[in-house]
Amino acid sequence: MNRIGLGYDRHRLVVGRPFLLGGVRIPHTHGPLGHSDGDALLHALTDAVLGAAGLDDLGSLYSDKDPQNAGRDSADFARDASARVKAAGFRIVSLDAVVIVELPRIGPRRAEIRQRISELFEVALDAVNVKGKSGEGFAPIATGELIEVHAVALLERVGR
Ligand code: MG
Repeated sequence: MNRIGLGYDRHRLVVGRPFLLGGVRIPHTHGPLGHSDGDALLHALTDAVLGAAGLDDLGSLYSDKDPQNAGRDSADFARDASARVKAAGFRIVSLDAVVIVELPRIGPRRAEIRQRISELFEVALDAVNVKGKSGEGFAPIATGELIEVHAVALLERVGR
């Protein structure tokens, strides 16, 4: 039995925060504001895999009210969610995401981001994809103030 999950996230981009995307740090003037490291791509993917498995969502499992999650590396959420999904009897078949942000450009770092996601969620590299889109002139994305991510995950039930 296969299951599809959808994940979505958005973060305000502010001066002086490190820009993390899919667990990869990209040099940029602005970075995502957030209680954790604000990695919108890992947050959306994490919610997609949790959703597909019928588990609790990112906000419930790794609350932004919990001081333990302050400044937290979102790779921890991704690895933990991946383990929970497997413990629930699923294999992650594929992950795909659209990242909507003006700057930095995703293209030059795409291969590295795919590789990192593949490692964190333990999914074959050719079953992980990430596409970048610009704001097409529309604020607040085109003005560099916002990053938005849409992600989907396909899971299959294994061993039962
Ligand atoms: Mg988030």
